[in-house]
Amino acid sequence: MNTQWVSDGPETTPGDIEEPGLDGPFVIGVDLGGTKILARAIDPATGAASGRIKRMTPAGPSVVLDSLVEAIQDLPGWEQAEGVGLGVPGFVTKDGVVTSCPNIKGWDEPVAVSAELGSRLGMNVVVANDVDCGAVAEQRFGAGRGVDDLLAVFVGTGVGGGLVLDGQLVIGDRGLVGEIGHVTVEPGGRPCGCGGRGHLEAYAGRAGINREVRRRHEKSPQLLVDLAGEGSIKSRHIARGIADEDDTTIEMMAEAAAALALVIGNAATLLDLPRVILGGGVVDKLGQPFIDQIAQSDRFGGFGADLVDLVPADRLDDAGAVGAAMIAVDRL
Ligand SMILES: [Zn+2]
Repeated sequence: MNTQWVSDGPETTPGDIEEPGLDGPFVIGVDLGGTKILARAIDPATGAASGRIKRMTPAGPSVVLDSLVEAIQDLPGWEQAEGVGLGVPGFVTKDGVVTSCPNIKGWDEPVAVSAELGSRLGMNVVVANDVDCGAVAEQRFGAGRGVDDLLAVFVGTGVGGGLVLDGQLVIGDRGLVGEIGHVTVEPGGRPCGCGGRGHLEAYAGRAGINREVRRRHEKSPQLLVDLAGEGSIKSRHIARGIADEDDTTIEMMAEAAAALALVIGNAATLLDLPRVILGGGVVDKLGQPFIDQIAQSDRFGGFGADLVDLVPADRLDDAGAVGAAMIAVDRL
């Protein structure tokens, strides 16, 4: 195999391609994000990645598919791959139809991505949700190594989750397994981005926190709004609010921790999970104190926090591409 991967793509910098190639069989892992596409060659035995092709994510599904094909075909030796795993920021059915991608402009109708890419590349393409890809990467090579049953929860703008049972990702016919952000914690409570009410994401996701803080700001000035200005509230603003002992920030994050504790405890009890991995921007920024706050919450659901270890995600490099490749290996 090539010892140096070469790309003529404008977004791949020379520093990225001075890597040795893989010697054995490999699967191509692709991470389709809201702003960029990343394609890598992944060794299924070790998760080691080689080659690195980057593209900007264009608008609209047909142009996105063109860019995905280009990125994959720019990986030297791509024809020798055993298949392709693709992670997308949207809902994916079991047969690889992406029903919507809210973070990609112009993608609002279902597209049979697996079938379309498969026929254009002449190889099997497995498509999965990006949060599920992160969960599988953590289970195989990160904070979940050696554990067959786990839930990974990512707390960022929203709250996403991926469930692994018996070492295999579970998604369900409608792709809803692991959609922990839309589990109800307060019937009739705060509005959620999905149109529902009282969902976990409305309490623990940054978008939900942003909405609630701005609502309060209309009555009394809020530090988090002063910090964020016109933009949305970021994890670093929340960290600053806690450091400054801002009452609203402390109250909101206590509510977030309590909501997460309720749902995580219930999930661990229902599914007999020994470990739950916590990641995402909010957890990464607030760190162990926030994880401890969840574990010590008196709202912890089910049989309580003794049942389950809460551990931080390992934040592996290119987890999306690695996880997508591993999901492909399982399904090919
Ligand atoms: Zn919701």
